Amino acid sequence: MKSHARVVVIGGGVVGCSVLFHLARAGWTDAVLIERDELTSGSTWHAAGGMHTINGDPNVAKLQKYTISLYKEIEELSGQATGVHLTGGVFLAATEARMDWLRNMVAKGRYLGIELEEISPREAAELMPLIDPGQFVGAIHNKEDGHLDPSGVTHAYAKAARKLGAEIERFTKVEDIVCRPDGMWRVITNKGEVVAEHVVNAGGLWAREVGRMVGLELPVLAMEHMYLITEDMPEVAAWNKKTSTEIMHAVDFDGELYLRQERGGMLMGTYEKAGKPWSEQATPWDFGHELLEPDIDRIAPSLEVGFRHFPAFQNTGIKQIINGPFTFAPDGNPLVGPVRGLPGFWVACGVMAGFSQGGGVGLALSNWMMNGDPGADIFAMDVARYGDWASMAYTNTKVRENYSRRFSIRFPNEELPAGRRLKTTPIYDCLAQRGAQFGSAYGLEVPLWYAPEGVRDEFSWRRSTDFEHVTAEVKTARERVGLSEISSFAKYKVTGTGAGAWLDRLLACKLPAAGRMTLAPMLKEDGRLIGDFSLANLGAGHNGKAEWFIAGSGVAEQYHMRWFERHLPADGSVKIEALGLSRVGLSIAGPRARDVLAKVTHADVSPSAFKFMDIGRIDIGMASCLVGRVSYTGDLGYEIWMAPEYQRHVFEILLAAGEEFGIGLFGSRALNALRLEKNYGSWAREYRPIYGPLEAGLDRFVAYAKPAEFIGKKAAVAERASGGKLRLRSFVVEAVDADVIGDEPIWHNGAVRGWVTSGGYAHHSGVSVAMGYVPKEIADESDGFEIEFLGRRHAARMQSVPLFDGNQERLRG
Ligand SMILES: Cc1cc2nc3c(=O)[nH]c(=O)nc-3n(C[C@H](O)[C@H](O)[C@H](O)COP(=O)(O)OP(=O)(O)OC[C@H]3O[C@@H](n4cnc5c(N)ncnc54)[C@H](O)[C@@H]3O)c2cc1C
Repeated sequence: MKSHARVVVIGGGVVGCSVLFHLARAGWTDAVLIERDELTSGSTWHAAGGMHTINGDPNVAKLQKYTISLYKEIEELSGQATGVHLTGGVFLAATEARMDWLRNMVAKGRYLGIELEEISPREAAELMPLIDPGQFVGAIHNKEDGHLDPSGVTHAYAKAARKLGAEIERFTKVEDIVCRPDGMWRVITNKGEVVAEHVVNAGGLWAREVGRMVGLELPVLAMEHMYLITEDMPEVAAWNKKTSTEIMHAVDFDGELYLRQERGGMLMGTYEKAGKPWSEQATPWDFGHELLEPDIDRIAPSLEVGFRHFPAFQNTGIKQIINGPFTFAPDGNPLVGPVRGLPGFWVACGVMAGFSQGGGVGLALSNWMMNGDPGADIFAMDVARYGDWASMAYTNTKVRENYSRRFSIRFPNEELPAGRRLKTTPIYDCLAQRGAQFGSAYGLEVPLWYAPEGVRDEFSWRRSTDFEHVTAEVKTARERVGLSEISSFAKYKVTGTGAGAWLDRLLACKLPAAGRMTLAPMLKEDGRLIGDFSLANLGAGHNGKAEWFIAGSGVAEQYHMRWFERHLPADGSVKIEALGLSRVGLSIAGPRARDVLAKVTHADVSPSAFKFMDIGRIDIGMASCLVGRVSYTGDLGYEIWMAPEYQRHVFEILLAAGEEFGIGLFGSRALNALRLEKNYGSWAREYRPIYGPLEAGLDRFVAYAKPAEFIGKKAAVAERASGGKLRLRSFVVEAVDADVIGDEPIWHNGAVRGWVTSGGYAHHSGVSVAMGYVPKEIADESDGFEIEFLGRRHAARMQSVPLFDGNQERLRG
């Protein structure tokens, strides 16, 4: 074994081998993969080998499509057969709600280049003869589905990587990983040590153990998973003979089943409701090529449905039941990327569909390691979507929930029950008493809307039980004054002698003067967005030291901290701290917001004394708060930040003062409706790392001419000169009883040209709104747009001027 390498990849499952292959293909051949046993000795060897392009997240779907397209290349490069059978597949719906979900998939596929076709149950049965069409209401057909040989694929990656110059050490166990003072990693094995610049944890079933070697507790857990293989079936033989093709794949969501042909019989697997975790605390090192004891009772309810939906199974015997463990993250997506605080340590684990996703994971990670950027929008798989709050027990409850719901529909208004009430703010109970219906964001309970006694969300693709109540909340905020909790934002404090200069380089905006705020886009080297914040210059405090306050997306706190810390100067002249829930917030907004504020403070908050985008320390009642004159509702409003011990006091005093003005509470659904009619985008929806500031309409906040060489300046200037490719636009949609959710295709003159990033009903304006990207060439056309959702194309009119307060009189007045 070599003593030094640029990269050590730990784990020779399908994921580790894919990472090694991608690094070697892109030129990093000084890489060695270390596997404690034979390759495939974790989950990989007993996988069912199914592969699919469709995924709820369009960015993950793109990487799945890439994975499947890769198999031919690695087979040719390595000379190792991958056993790919591109049979095609049918996805079956037994209910109308499921069919709506599938129609949304078909629509998404149009801009992802995934060809999906809606078909009738009868047509599905013509393609896949074991189906009883009477059991289903519809289906979609995907030509790109199939299965492969898990061991063949893994060895093909490995052989191709070796051919390109990478090395593989089998039967070598990594026992410890130590970071040297110079930042290099000592990877200590039972056969010696390798010193490496980068280490990749692709430890699969042992990813937690490998993480623990560097003090990292990764949110992954293995679940047992079973599939059965039948005896040879005459129906299979007859179909093979008649058509000279294999029986195609089927996914029966309502039965929680997947099926494919296996030799002369069939393979049927299930994500049963009563899923069972495996090795909850630690994975035994002596586990490898064993299988787990099958438990047919656990999967019997799903099998009963399966035997009804696919009657030929009733007349055949079961040859074998495979039960094996594989790992999941709390939301079922992989954990990929660099780990905050551990430069040079990377993860590629929690990959629950290694044969659909392994190639995409390898590509994204190798890009990231080599170029500092994954090259695609992979936030859905980014390890930084979790923070320390995702503890082992949280992971356990969420993974169980996710497994049991693997094939369940998640409606756009559905909040999942596991892992809840983990983080709450001091006014949680006050809000709950007033009917707050909570969702969870980055582990924190956030009020979505306020329900009268006895009313609850009815889960639906269409407008639901909350509709009229959110309308009332919006009315309060637009006509009188609304109060909302805003603690879920991420908040950061920046201090130190070098803070100003550092922020000037980090952020693309002009820095605000003391006592002022600005919108602050943050760019990557390639000039695309990696954050959008509000930045406040708090000036020098009583200690005479400059302080800056940043507020941004709550779900991206770890993601942004990773970026901030990566760019901190080494001399300690700048300190940045994520304030988390040590700073909580409330916001008041609406035409009477100033009247309420004036009643609870001695400070002068008159329009001339406290202008739009001013910020300062102000007492509210007896509590010292930081108050900024800004509101995401796009109206006159204030954001009020305080230490948590004051939140109840401030909440009560604002409500009491607001009574005479008709104050009312509003939640994040109302806020969404309010920001949509202002054409305001938000991080993780409109603003993502694949769009430039010009494309996203944030260029007016970019100080192209400022002297500071801010990150991404050159590329941003080039984008401005070339005009970029896309434009973010708002549309009013002719919708009847449902609104867009996000990820729907935008048609123009009969062709799919763009995609929706978010939308909903703008209750105050009384119209349905969608925001999304279209090519710049058609971005100024007002006619010819349609947006497809729930199986129908809806006429859409471009809305360039915000529906509400287009001239900003209310906002700035
Ligand atoms: C029953 C079953 C059916 C499945 N069906 C499908 C399917 O149809 N389609 C699909 O896409 N996926 C399927 N999967 C999931 C699939 O198997 C996984 O997504 C995939 O195997 C994950 O690969 P991995 O490389 O991340 O992990 P693993 O396969 O677990 O590999 C990790 C490797 O790391 C090595 N390792 C760990 N720690 C160390 C160390 N300290 N030193 C050296 N080596 C180490 C291990 O020995 C192991 O070989 C199925 C899984 C099961 C159990």
